[in-house]
Formats: sequence, structure tokens, C-alpha cells
Amino acid sequence: MANTRAYAAQSADSGLAPYNFERRALRDDDVAIEIDYCGVCHSDVHVVENDWGGSQYPVVPGHEIIGRVTAVGAAVTTYKTGDLVGVGCMVDSCRSCSACDTGLEQYCDEGMTATYGGIDRHDGSVTMGGYSDNIVVSERFVVRVPEKLDPASAAPLLCAGITTYSPLKHFNVGKGHKVGVLGMGGLGHMGVKFAKALGAEVTLFTRSESKVAEAKKQGADHVVVSTDRSQMKAVSNSFDFLLDTIPVAHDLNPYLKCLKHDGTHILVGLLSAIEPPVNAGLLLLKRRVIGGSLIGGMPETQEVLDFCAEHNITCDVEMLDIRDINDAYVRMKKGDVKYRFVIDMKTLKE
Ligand code: NDP
Ligand code: ZN
Repeated sequence: MANTRAYAAQSADSGLAPYNFERRALRDDDVAIEIDYCGVCHSDVHVVENDWGGSQYPVVPGHEIIGRVTAVGAAVTTYKTGDLVGVGCMVDSCRSCSACDTGLEQYCDEGMTATYGGIDRHDGSVTMGGYSDNIVVSERFVVRVPEKLDPASAAPLLCAGITTYSPLKHFNVGKGHKVGVLGMGGLGHMGVKFAKALGAEVTLFTRSESKVAEAKKQGADHVVVSTDRSQMKAVSNSFDFLLDTIPVAHDLNPYLKCLKHDGTHILVGLLSAIEPPVNAGLLLLKRRVIGGSLIGGMPETQEVLDFCAEHNITCDVEMLDIRDINDAYVRMKKGDVKYRFVIDMKTLKE
């Protein structure tokens, strides 16, 4: 059992504060990791503030974890002490359904075990995430971080990276495709980089005039300010694929009009009902499709890290002292992060 220093929320409106707890002793297939960095995802805000309901307090958030292996269980074969590794959004699954068998553990028939706020399949305890100095995870749910990647800016690849990479790959987005990315935060800025690296022509849709120039620096070929009707109208019927990272309910109808016939609108940001209702005519008159996508499986999470090392893709990060985490949440809710906060876990020990 390892004594663990962390930050936790005690209720939906408590904010985050220091919290100590015990990590479990290593099981045979477990890897113990000393955490160096942890990204701050908008999902952390949703769970801390109970936006989706069902949050179990205390919540120790964090699922963009980078650290070094400090110990391994007796049956571990892939990792050894000192390896640079990552942990993303899940730490277990049933490991035997058709989804798990094909490396899509996030779609496990029994439900994946989330890195925080999930229920451990062996002892029934609530899982605690990466705003902490160490974590213990089964080796199947650990990935290797290529030494070529800067560890701090690799952290967001474990969620923001894989969540945007996976649907682009699944829908074979590439050369000759026009792709729109909706919202430029942690997920959105990675969506722009990946769509570009895969060869697509990329447009960022943003509410923020101030992000126009920055989106071009990220690699976007075009930018549409989504609050400007004339700019939206000018791009009607033009996209093959839209990747929607907006974290709140929003009107999909103006975006659907931007899709060509047979175009696909993939939601990654929205977990609740679509409001206001979608005009079904916009779908069937042009055979347009709306879908959703959840993170990515373990093989693909390794793939995205290797892809970034190979193509020199990094996340743009703002390093964060964990004592400033509550202010960081306020900024995140305003869309004012460039483009991912990453906690330097040394600040937990100061
Ligand atoms: P961020 O807060 O970093 O970015 C979200 C962006 O969306 C903002 O920067 C802003 O971009 C835009 N936005 C914010 N509020 C609004 C609004 N009211 N109306 C329109 N646009 C808005 O969040 P993340 O990128 O970390 O996460 C985005 C969403 O994805 C969250 O809901 C998160 O829970 C979810 N998520 C889903 C995953 C999955 O597996 N499907 C995995 C990880 C996260 P701009 O200023 O450019 O308009
Ligand atoms: Zn996340």
C-alpha cells in the first residue's frame, strides 16, 4: 500500500484541495508509477462539478498521466522500473468481450473502468486519478511513451490526443477531405493538428475572434467564426467530416448545413441530449450522419503516441502549479487555455 498525496473535490461545489489516501498493493499484473505530469481535461471539470450526475466524492480527477515505473507485479512482462509510461482514461475492462478482444476496451460490453470515479473490478473501491503523486495500474492499460516526446506535452495525448485521432482514423479522414473542427480547446487544437497531418484540408470553427490567427498557426487552412451567420452560410454544403469538441449542448443544425451530402458529424464533446432538436430533414435530404466517439482503445492509444513522435506533433501546454487548480478550472470554463493545462506534480510536494 502506498501513501498517496493528491488533490480531491469533496462535493460539486467544494473546489479541489489536498487529500491523502492509500493506493492498493501491487497485484501480479500491476505497474506502480510515480506521476510527473497530469493534463487537465474538461471532463475533470464535468465530473468534479457533477455535470453528468453520479459523481462519487471524494473525486481525485486526472486521466492524462505521465510518469516513471517504480515497481512491477510478479507477472508483468512489458514494463520495468524506470520506464517512461502513460495512463489515459481507463484502467480496466472485462478483457473478454468482442470489443475488448479487438482492442476497443473503451466500448467494453460490461463498461470500461474509468481512471477516476470508476469501480475497481476486484475490490469494489472507487478509482482515483492522476492529480496525485503515484498510481497503480494493470499493465494492459499502460502505454509506453517514446523517449523522443517531451513528457509534459505528451500528457494530453492520453485523452485529448487519442479522442481526436481515433474518429479521424476510424472514418478514414485523409487527403482530399475537407474537415471542420468545432471548438479550439484541448481536444480541438489536437484535432486540427491530426486532421492536417493526415492530409485533410482543415477549417476551425470557433466563437472566438481572438483564436483566428492562432488556429492558422496550429495548421488550420481556414477559420470560420461560428457566431457570424454570413461566414457560416459561405461554407454550406462543403465539408466531408466535422469533429465536434464543444463541451455543452449547442445547436447542431447550422453545422449540419455545412456538411456535403454523405457528410459525417462526430460528437466527442457532448454527453447529454442534443438540444435544440435536430431537423431530421437536414439529415435525410443529404444522407448526412451524426455519430459519436469515445477516446480510443489501448493499441490505438499507443499508436497515437508513436504517430506524434514520428510526425513531431506536440500538444501546446501551459504548465500548472497544482495549488492553482481551482483558478485553472475557471479559465477552462471560459475557453481561456492555450491549449491544455498540465500539472507539474513536483508542485504537489512543495
Ligand atoms: P476545452 O474547455 O479545452 O475546450 C472546449 C472548447 O469548446 C473551448 O475552447 C471553446 O472553443 C469551445 N466552447 C466552450 N464552450 C462553448 C460554448 N458554450 N459554445 C460553443 N463552444 C464552446 O475542453 P476539452 O477540449 O478538454 O473537452 C471538450 C469536451 O470533450 C468536454 O465536454 C469533454 O468532457 C469532452 N471529452 C470527450 C471525450 C470523449 O472520449 N468523447 C474525451 C475527453 C473529453 P472556442 O473558444 O474555439 O469556441
Ligand atoms: Zn479527458
